[in-house]
Amino acid sequence: MRTLKKVPVTVEFVSDINIDDLKPNIMYIRKDKMYLTHLCFCEDKCFVNLPISTLTIDGVSKQSDDKGCSWDVEIKNEKITVKPSILNHPCECHYIITNGIANIV
Ligand SMILES: [Zn+2]
Repeated sequence: MRTLKKVPVTVEFVSDINIDDLKPNIMYIRKDKMYLTHLCFCEDKCFVNLPISTLTIDGVSKQSDDKGCSWDVEIKNEKITVKPSILNHPCECHYIITNGIANIV
């Protein structure tokens, strides 16, 4: 896969999400609910809300109770890595977030 664009992203921990307040290139994490929320990197900036399976912050891990979840989020020195990649519908924007950079492929 070829990277089309690299976009630096930052992390914000929040307790609640107001869709109208979301800013691009910020990964919002609700620790209590284990959700990763952000705006997609497509033109429409679609709303993306992903359940987190394992959240690791500077080596300390928390598991979700929901076994159906599939994204692992690691934050190290304030840089976020999300596995596996994220593919959104219907825009088909596909990206991999590694070490604070969203690689759009
Ligand atoms: Zn999109």
